[in-house]
Amino acid sequence: MAETKKSTTLAVIGGGPGGYAAAFMAADLGLQVTLIDPEENPGGVCLYRGCIPSKALLHVAKLISESRDAADWGITFTQPKIDVKKLRAWKDGVVERLTGGVGQLAKQRKVEFIRGMAKFVDAKTLEVKAQDGGNIRLSFEHAIIATGSRPTVIPKLAPDSPRVINSTGALNIKDIPKSMLVVGGGYIGLEMGTVYATLGAKVTVVEMLSGLLPGVDRDLVSVLSKRLDGLFDKIILNTTVSKMKEQKNGIKVTLESKDGETQEKLFDKVLISVGRRPNSENLGLENTKVKVTEKGFIEVNLQRKTAEPTIYAIGDVAGEPMLAHKASHEGRVAAEAISGKKVAFEPQAIPVVVFTDPEVAWCGLTQTQAKEQGLDVEVIRFPWAASGRSLTLGRTDGVTKLVIDKKTERVLGVGITGPNAGDLIAEGVLAVEMGAVAADVGLTIHPHPTLSETLMEAADIFYGTSTHYYRPKKR
Ligand code: FAD
Repeated sequence: MAETKKSTTLAVIGGGPGGYAAAFMAADLGLQVTLIDPEENPGGVCLYRGCIPSKALLHVAKLISESRDAADWGITFTQPKIDVKKLRAWKDGVVERLTGGVGQLAKQRKVEFIRGMAKFVDAKTLEVKAQDGGNIRLSFEHAIIATGSRPTVIPKLAPDSPRVINSTGALNIKDIPKSMLVVGGGYIGLEMGTVYATLGAKVTVVEMLSGLLPGVDRDLVSVLSKRLDGLFDKIILNTTVSKMKEQKNGIKVTLESKDGETQEKLFDKVLISVGRRPNSENLGLENTKVKVTEKGFIEVNLQRKTAEPTIYAIGDVAGEPMLAHKASHEGRVAAEAISGKKVAFEPQAIPVVVFTDPEVAWCGLTQTQAKEQGLDVEVIRFPWAASGRSLTLGRTDGVTKLVIDKKTERVLGVGITGPNAGDLIAEGVLAVEMGAVAADVGLTIHPHPTLSETLMEAADIFYGTSTHYYRPKKR
């Protein structure tokens, strides 16, 4: 097929939450924008095979789990009958509706959407292999790389078998296996493990390190671990998978503990969720001055500009944390910078949420990070057993924590574990980002009875004046 020549002011490569947010912002600021992605509509990993489908399935899991909890309140439901085909169709419908909507928004903004894969020829030209088989040579003034990430594979470990899946395979939910091994105790493994265990699979999680959600405040994780102990068949820590072999009746897995002890176990399915790698290969970056770190992330400055002045990079491909909202905000900053605005990506707090049951969410500085920075902080802990709202939900195991600078009384970090922690953390993000002091949070009237009051009460504890938690006055 002949090569078509096109030109644009801004080419955005990758239509995930980073890419489409950047493209929309640039179009809103008056730039001519071309967005390139292989899918039918923008959406990327987040909308097609990440945040959105996983949360649709987790919603179903929550419904089932709450119906089980209801037995304690005198309400007993029969065992749910699960129609996997219908469940999958519902989840696919959510994805279709959302991605279709984003596609419409692109049209309304006159963003040209090209279905295909792009590669740099030089610092001002892309070659796009279009989905329809055509080749497009696209010249641009600026480009934003937003090509995202993909699951890490362990080739020598994972046999090429339909029984061994990654997060995309798990979201495609073909059936509910009798037994499932989740390799990796990070957020994706725990979220997908929660879905499958609630739907009836016997789930075992194996984690190389000494705890689930490595790196996260142990106090927040311990609440989750207790509940997962009841939901999962087993949680095996300090252990790696050293061998996997397909057999007629499943995957035989050899687990090796830190002390060298091995055990063999058979699983119907194995979900590998051991992290994600940035998509910075096969982009023709060698034809530009763009620099890539050892881990494959594209190096960028505060405006998200790379070492090549015409090219910017955002989202998962431009560094941790690999989260959709971080990608979108970076995308908007890059678009503004390209349109000539004086901007920088300098957040005080990027929230992280694990959508398990209970949810775990945090933002800003942890106690450990504050100490590393030489800050004198006080960590306040409000147990949800003292919250009226959590009692009405039958979920008193949650906790709300504030990390407060003793001298300035500023809220530096917030951590929450409990139902809806993912929504509640937004107030914490606002407090940290606005430089609020504990009194700002404590003096703000929170609606009663809500879980949001736990933030207000935690702030009051700092002054020894919390209504529902007694602590001898200190200041
Ligand atoms: P992506 O969303 O990865 O999009 C990149 C796009 O670029 C893709 O469509 C890709 O096909 C395309 N592309 C790649 N190469 C090229 C090329 N050469 N030319 C053209 N197009 C190209 N994050 C959260 O914040 N909250 C969550 O709850 C959450 N849940 C998740 C659950 C799962 C199971 C997974 C896998 C991820 C989850 N994430 C979540 C992470 C989130 O999906 C990513 O952080 C986010 O999608 C990153 O956005 P992005 O724009 O950088 O790239």
